Amino acid sequence: MTDAEREAALAAIAVEVAVCKRCRLHEGRTRAVPGEGSAGTEVVFVGEGPGFNEDKQGRPFVGQAGALLDDLLKSVLWARDEVFITNVVKCRPPGNRDPEPDEIAACAPYLTRQLEVLDPALVVTLGRFSMARFNPGARIGQVHGTFRLADAESGVPRALTFAMYHPAAALHQGSLKQTLLGDMQGVPQALTEARALRVASAGAGAGEARDARNAEPTSAPGSSYAVAGPDAVALQAPEMDPPSASVSHETPALADAEFDPTAQLGLF
Ligand code: SF4
Repeated sequence: MTDAEREAALAAIAVEVAVCKRCRLHEGRTRAVPGEGSAGTEVVFVGEGPGFNEDKQGRPFVGQAGALLDDLLKSVLWARDEVFITNVVKCRPPGNRDPEPDEIAACAPYLTRQLEVLDPALVVTLGRFSMARFNPGARIGQVHGTFRLADAESGVPRALTFAMYHPAAALHQGSLKQTLLGDMQGVPQALTEARALRVASAGAGAGEARDARNAEPTSAPGSSYAVAGPDAVALQAPEMDPPSASVSHETPALADAEFDPTAQLGLF
């Protein structure tokens, strides 16, 4: 799929989201917020749901939490138009309450379809509701700043996920801002590992030219594929290609069997 085709597919999803009435959240919305960013990116940030400002503008992360997300991206020399940003639910929960399980379930197909189109190497989860989508059972206090394989049912079975607190949490608890900044420094490294995983997957699958999206996951989801994030909070960003530059979406398929990413990467 070309970037133009991806943009068209994402736009089609956004049109559906704009008029969606699958759950009660449509009743109070001003505008649905499907998400935005680069269609050619390798990195997708997934938050919880739109807030007051997002609901008014129809764009994700445009309020104070959005400004902090921008700062986090800048701290690793990335920009928001180099990644894709979306949420677990596309309409604002009233009073910024937590989304209910049935609302998350109703909205899940949109996120799944966006991920199928984008096929990211890395998904950065912002907050526990997003984390639960990709790594059910994980606890944000234990896994923030670490990456692991996405759950096979998440829609991105060959991607890595990197867990972070939601930026809005730092607006209420100031000490979390430094935690977020520290965790963010691990995101480029996670992308490096995600790229290596894809290259290793391609090598393991050499000669089997079939679409990776039809491949079965070859390792246990949420297995011991996690690494502690950096303790340091220094904001010196590593030199890193932007998250849409150097890895083609046309990565060959995963092997049918025998591929063990922990063995390939020797990470943990
Ligand atoms: S939150 Fe999702 S499922 Fe619910 S109305 Fe909005 S777009 Fe539809």
